[in-house]
Amino acid sequence: MKLRLLDILVCPDNKEWPLKIHIFEKRKIEKPFLPKEDGNTKVVCSFYCPKKQLKLTEGSDKDEIIVSKDASKIKYEIDCRECISSEIVAGLIECPSCKVFYPVIDEIPIILKKELRNEDIEREFTEKWADKIKEIKV
Ligand SMILES: [Zn+2]
Ligand SMILES: [Zn+2]
Repeated sequence: MKLRLLDILVCPDNKEWPLKIHIFEKRKIEKPFLPKEDGNTKVVCSFYCPKKQLKLTEGSDKDEIIVSKDASKIKYEIDCRECISSEIVAGLIECPSCKVFYPVIDEIPIILKKELRNEDIEREFTEKWADKIKEIKV
């Protein structure tokens, strides 16, 4: 998944947004599709910029994330370019409110409710990235 997806991804359980990402492995997309730069804001992300961890719309301020409507803090060339050219190969997406983790396996985010999740696939993932996962959960 592209880092950019965090812009719109919500938790399937409680619709929490934005979600956090812990990246274990990523690759750079050499020729990303670059939408036309917005002359006013120079922002590609619409609601939340995962690179800057900045909300671009007004939201509740209960989060630790900086709430800002000031998109001018984001520089397209250095920030959002990374949002659209970073492919997350493996990682964990965390819902900060439910404390539930969703894996990104082989570039695919598994954003499913508990009852739909596949334990076998996830066990393999958890074993492969055990060290990284330990770092997060302590
Ligand atoms: Zn961005
Ligand atoms: Zn949640």
